[in-house]
Amino acid sequence: MLTTTGPFTDLAARMTGRVVTPSDPDWDAARQVFNLALDLLPAAVALPRDVDDVIAAVDYAGAHGLRVAPQATGHNAGPLGSLEDTLLVDVRELQEVTIDPAARRVRVGAGVKWERVAPQLAELGLAALHGSSPDVGIAGYSLGGGMGWLARKHGLQANSVTAIELVTADGRATRVDAQHEPELFWALRGGNGNFGVVTAIEFEVYAVEELYAGVMFFPFERAGEVLHAWTDLLPSLPDEMMTWAKLMQFPDAPDVPEAVRGRSFTLVFGAFLGNEAEGRALLRPVRELGPAMDTFAMVSPAVLGDLAMDPEDPLPIASTTALMDDLPSAGVEDLVAASGPGSGSPLAMVELRHLGGALGRRAPGAGARATLPGTIAMFALGVPEDEESAATIGAYLDSVDRAVRPYRSGDYPNFVEEQVDASAFFDEDTWARLRLAKAHYDPGDLFKGNHHIPPAEPR
Ligand SMILES: Cc1cc2nc3c(=O)[nH]c(=O)nc-3n(C[C@H](O)[C@H](O)[C@H](O)COP(=O)(O)OP(=O)(O)OC[C@H]3O[C@@H](n4cnc5c(N)ncnc54)[C@H](O)[C@@H]3O)c2cc1C
Repeated sequence: MLTTTGPFTDLAARMTGRVVTPSDPDWDAARQVFNLALDLLPAAVALPRDVDDVIAAVDYAGAHGLRVAPQATGHNAGPLGSLEDTLLVDVRELQEVTIDPAARRVRVGAGVKWERVAPQLAELGLAALHGSSPDVGIAGYSLGGGMGWLARKHGLQANSVTAIELVTADGRATRVDAQHEPELFWALRGGNGNFGVVTAIEFEVYAVEELYAGVMFFPFERAGEVLHAWTDLLPSLPDEMMTWAKLMQFPDAPDVPEAVRGRSFTLVFGAFLGNEAEGRALLRPVRELGPAMDTFAMVSPAVLGDLAMDPEDPLPIASTTALMDDLPSAGVEDLVAASGPGSGSPLAMVELRHLGGALGRRAPGAGARATLPGTIAMFALGVPEDEESAATIGAYLDSVDRAVRPYRSGDYPNFVEEQVDASAFFDEDTWARLRLAKAHYDPGDLFKGNHHIPPAEPR
């Protein structure tokens, strides 16, 4: 195999963008990802500026026995594992954005984050199916599923994708959609980076002038009663209403807003595609508990960009996640005992998102990630500062896992930040079809997606 310096000069000569190798002064910056606890060690990092650069990188890797790991922002690098003999093709410089408001279509370069698109759309009375963090990349989010504020009404972002432009293992630039290479289009929408380097992605957006959205802040100590009220409420909510409940413990750090700095809360978030009176009526049982602060109002969809108060700057993260069929009263008790008041939990966040609605219905023409099983998604994270805190956080994450285990219905790949067997994310038929598509489009397993899909064995 290649040594990491020297030979990449050939590739650099073919590209307009750069190739960063371990001997470059910005090597550490080029390979740094969102989770600072990870230390990615690829053979080199290619930073293409256009499609020809991507073709050059894919050709080069294929010709030199390297694999290719496509990456946009590095928000889900944990599952990649070893990148030895792998060229990281980082598309952060593909930043084109085109919005066609009349057609309600958006086309973005594969490096574009939601923060560049969602505010522009809001000004046009439109909303995309983005998630909780404006810092997440549209490509990776969409290729893994993409579950956000409007998901109960409009489903996963993957199924609002209308076309994908990519470079395949044979070094070909192509645009796939429902008519052109439909099987590849199907596989990409759920198959993440296993099928090629995506250079641009086109998707549908929705007319949303205003919606009723906000957060109710309750004292952390009231976690039990708030979570009971929230879980009791869920079965009565229409698809137009998305709610999330969270336990959040904000660090005492200068970049945290003063109102929450160093404090812990139980929070109920909501986004309702409807008017204030209906929204208030739907949320009454939670509001009757008397939140300490309540920001719900009719707002522009721009507010959804950072409503969830996710961290936007890279930080060390340890996390766990599960999809659940249900979280009955005993489950709420166990979860609060594991991570709520009196538990001593150092976890920065334990988040519960309501699923169901369109998330549970297979849309015509859907991709490989058509639906999500279950009624609640759990995601919990801690911020380890050293080995000792990592061990403590690990123990609390294990307790959270144990609390929800009886209700588990599966995993949502975008939330899984460690290496696991990706077959568990799909039913048997979908997994077999994905492996066949992989064998057809990437028989040599050139592309290393975050969650690996191996080619089907030749018969
Ligand atoms: C703070 C935070 C909040 C989040 N909130 C949500 C949420 O609300 N809803 C949700 O569904 N998810 C959420 N996620 C998860 C997020 O969707 C995944 O981490 C997703 O994979 C990130 O995509 P990315 O492009 O930003 O990250 P990257 O790490 O760059 O990409 C992840 C994977 O996507 C594939 N990929 C990326 N770019 C390309 C490309 N150009 N070509 C081919 N493959 C590519 C690769 O397999 C890559 O390993 C969140 C993550 C974080 C850290």
